[in-house]
Order: sequence, then C-alpha cells, then structure tokens
Amino acid sequence: MSKIIQKSFETERFSHSEAMEILNLPDEDLPELLDIVYAIRKKYKGNTVGVQILTNVRSGNCSQNCAYCAQSRDSEANIDKYRLVPYEKLLHDGQIARDNKLSRHCIGLSGIRFGDKEISEFADYVRNLKREVDTYICCSIGFLTLQQAQKLKDAGVNRINHNLNTSRNFYGKICTTHTYDERVENIKMLQSLGFEICCGGIAGLGESKTDIVDMLFDIKEINPQSVPINFLLPLKGTALADTDVSHLSAEYCLKILCLARLLLPKSDIRCAAGREVYLKGKEKWMFYAVDSIFASGYLTAGGQSVEDTIKLITDAGFQYKIES
Ligand code: SF4
Repeated sequence: MSKIIQKSFETERFSHSEAMEILNLPDEDLPELLDIVYAIRKKYKGNTVGVQILTNVRSGNCSQNCAYCAQSRDSEANIDKYRLVPYEKLLHDGQIARDNKLSRHCIGLSGIRFGDKEISEFADYVRNLKREVDTYICCSIGFLTLQQAQKLKDAGVNRINHNLNTSRNFYGKICTTHTYDERVENIKMLQSLGFEICCGGIAGLGESKTDIVDMLFDIKEINPQSVPINFLLPLKGTALADTDVSHLSAEYCLKILCLARLLLPKSDIRCAAGREVYLKGKEKWMFYAVDSIFASGYLTAGGQSVEDTIKLITDAGFQYKIES
C-alpha cells in the first residue's frame, strides 16, 4: 500500500486499479492509509480546516429530475420553495461568514438555466453583498451562458460550484433531463473565463465503486480548486428516499475521502452533506484527509451550527482556518 500511496506524493499518477485497491482496502488497514494520507494533507494543506456556510437563494421548482434532489421537478419533499430569497437573508448569512472569518460563503440557486434578467437580478445581490461584507463567494447555479458567467464574474463571484455527482456511466440512472457532458462543458467554459471551480460528487446513489473511481478521475482531469464529497441523505419525497445506504460505513466514507485526497492532493477536499450522519464520532479521522467542511446545514438538509463546527475542528486537534 505504501508504494501505491507514495506515487500520489511524488507523481500524482494513479491507475484506475490502484484507486480501486484503496476503496477495497480491508478496514483493518485503514489506520495505515489515514497516516499516509495525513502526511499528504499536511504537506499541501497544513493542519487547518476551512468552514463554509451555504445560503439557498432560490429553492425548489427545478425543471430537472436529479433523483437525489429535494428541489427536482419530481420531488414531493416538503421544502420551502421560493424564486429569490430576500436580500436581507443573504446579507445576514454573509455577516455570519464575515464575523466568524469563514473561508467562504456558498450560494445555491435551484434550476438549470436562467434568463438574462434573473442573472442581472442575482448579480445585483452579489454586488451589494460584496460591497457590504466582502466575503469570498462561491455559487452553485446550473448552466450559464458565457455572457451570464462573465456578468457574475464582474459582480464579484470568485468560484463556481458545478458537481459531476457520479460517473459518466451511471449518470443516466440519476438524471435524464441533462447530460454529464453538458456539465463537463459548462465547467470548461467557466474555467476559460478564469473562474475557480468547485466540483465533486455524491456517494450512495446506487453506484458501484468503479463509478466512484471513474468520477474522481474525471474530477482530477478538471483539476478544481475544491472537491465536495457528499454522502447521500435519502430525503423523504425524493426518488432515492428508499435507497439502501447501509454500505456507507464510516470506514468506506473515509476511504472515499482518502482517495479524493490522493488523486487531488492540492485541492480542498470538502466533506459535505452526510458528514454529520455517516462520520459522526470519526471526525478526527475525517480530518486526516479533509481540510474543509460546511457549517449550518445544506441546501435542503440541516447541519451543525458554526460554533459547534469550530469546536469539532479544535477538539479533533486541528486548527480552524481563519480568513484574514
Ligand atoms: S440538483 Fe440542481 S439541477 Fe438537479 S434537480 Fe436539484 S436544483 Fe435542479
């Protein structure tokens, strides 16, 4: 194992079968894997953990059918639905990010395509927010045209989140209203404009380990600045509500996070939705691979408060990354 992992340290070159070996590692070998992964994390990311909060600026009523998503057109989940959150709510969250010196303020909008008027309206929100609290902003906002993306860049958006979610091969099982390749193309266009990219996925959708490896290799190709790894929370009312997630043991989740770190040693590896459930009590080990987490919940699921999240980091012996 050490030989395989040493490759990540030195060349960042990994074969598909070597990556599969990491996911298939016996649980009793996990401590050894974590030790080696920690050395890589320490080299590139030190001992710090960044914290983000997320505001859902537009919720529900999406035209798409992503099976895991409570905001999809097919979802019967009981969630708040609104076209645009009041600016005061966005500002309130921005103030929390600023006052706690969080790494960034992430902003999600449900939907896949937006009219120019909607983008202008949202760009005004961003411009005002930048003026009032000047936090580092990352947006999750479907597919943009080149002009729309430029408008958001000019308004002050620093980074855009666009996840691959799963492998190309499995994509048709979780969504049929848009394609994997459309996602990849959108990311390339955003990179051509100079945006930083946040690109990750979800484990537990019914995919195989090969799908996880394929997805992570595609993400490696994109080379995003941050990689959020989510673990499925089967939400009532969504198509995946009854999905069996019993294989998402803490050990398996840790191996996925370790593999993400090995394949993308210099990126932020973020443990996103599901960490409070699947990695509860194992956070110290999670931080051996992960240098970034969310506080205050996710788009349609609750989470841990900012204070408790900071305490979690320091109790685990890591440093809370303070943005200056
Ligand atoms: S993940 Fe995004 S595109 Fe897919 S249904 Fe949810 S809001 Fe729509």
